[in-house]
Amino acid sequence: MKIIMLGAPGAGKGTQAKMIAEKYSVPHVSTGDIFRANIKNGTELGKQAKEYMDKGQLVPDELTVKILLDRVAQDDCKNGYVLDGFPRTIPQAEVLDEALTKLSESIDYAINVDVPDENIVGRMGGRRACVKCGATYHVKYNAPKVEGVCDACGDKLILRDDDAPETVQKRLDVYHEQTQPLIDYYEKKGVLKTVDGTVDMKDVFAAICEILG
Ligand code: ADP
Ligand code: AMP
Repeated sequence: MKIIMLGAPGAGKGTQAKMIAEKYSVPHVSTGDIFRANIKNGTELGKQAKEYMDKGQLVPDELTVKILLDRVAQDDCKNGYVLDGFPRTIPQAEVLDEALTKLSESIDYAINVDVPDENIVGRMGGRRACVKCGATYHVKYNAPKVEGVCDACGDKLILRDDDAPETVQKRLDVYHEQTQPLIDYYEKKGVLKTVDGTVDMKDVFAAICEILG
């Protein structure tokens, strides 16, 4: 099963993608997580990506597409995957489609987690992330057992540099301009499913499970 998560930054794509990955036994592939791991490890890719990420901009397609195609070519992605944060532009979606077409494959579901902009800024200010294992928390809606410590791996939780309110606004602008057109793109392909992302995360997940079966 090949699934794409669509939605604004902070809509809950990562939260839902992790639950989908667990229930349906497919890897969760997040380009944002891959970039953050590279930043943490001080790689050249990380240095390049950070310049864009800190400004709330998209990392250029040339850098992003290659890491994603390399990742989904790995063995664990043979039976499918859930993509979180990719594609974010029409050219990215086209490259993914071309690569899949060559394998006689295609995307099964593009799940659009719908949350209006006014809900987003509060969510991002409360988000806490574990860069080591990729787990995500919220100080109010999904608090870790011990403040500042990851339940899953015990590492320190951080407030992401790009979750500052000014950067969140910029990311929302970029989303509307460059990523939102993908909703139409996948609608035309007949694979778009929209869920209400403003309800409790368990209820969002229940709606997604109903779609995926
Ligand atoms: P995205 O991957 O789309 O950027 P996240 O999954 O990281 O978004 O969610 C953003 C923040 O909102 C996190 O702190 C997360 O815990 C919280 N969150 C996710 N889904 C919900 C929800 N349905 N209700 C309230 N908060 C949520
Ligand atoms: P995310 O963790 O998905 O919120 O992504 C964090 C940041 O990483 C984004 O704001 C972008 O700067 C960058 N990024 C992640 N995925 C992509 C992508 N598919 N295309 C371009 N930039 C991306």
